[in-house]
Amino acid sequence: MANSYSQRMGEAKNIALIAHDNRKLELLEWADYNKGTLSNHNLFGTGTTGGLIMDKLGLHVHRYRSGPLGGDQQIGASISDGKIDFMIFFWDPLQSQPHDVDVKALLRLSVLYNIPVACNRATADFLISSPLLSSAYDRMIQDFQLPNAQGSQL
Ligand code: PGA
Repeated sequence: MANSYSQRMGEAKNIALIAHDNRKLELLEWADYNKGTLSNHNLFGTGTTGGLIMDKLGLHVHRYRSGPLGGDQQIGASISDGKIDFMIFFWDPLQSQPHDVDVKALLRLSVLYNIPVACNRATADFLISSPLLSSAYDRMIQDFQLPNAQGSQL
């Protein structure tokens, strides 16, 4: 791909886990089922979600602030810094959030930086069972700072 660079994701991925309140139980169940696999990776999470995963499942999670208090923005910043390379984000499709703009910004950055993202359980199942999860992977990122990068997509 022209005007792009690659970012290496190691064998152990830096995985962000986030769930809105109505979906926290679903994420906890999913994480419990996949606990063995998740324990091979570095886990990050928004404050409440991360706390629940630590308390209920005993997995270590690097916690950011709670989502409505800036946690989504912190995770977005970490994605842009190359520190998060995988995200499971069970956002609530039936209720608006006080930090909807932060949620949108986080999803935008995940697309911009080309990280794998699951927003529902089936996608999370497919992602976690991918052979790429446990091997190094170079993901391509478009470099918008290079000349012509915003023009032609060819
Ligand atoms: P929480 O944040 O884990 O602190 O509840 C989740 C979110 O709303 O982004």
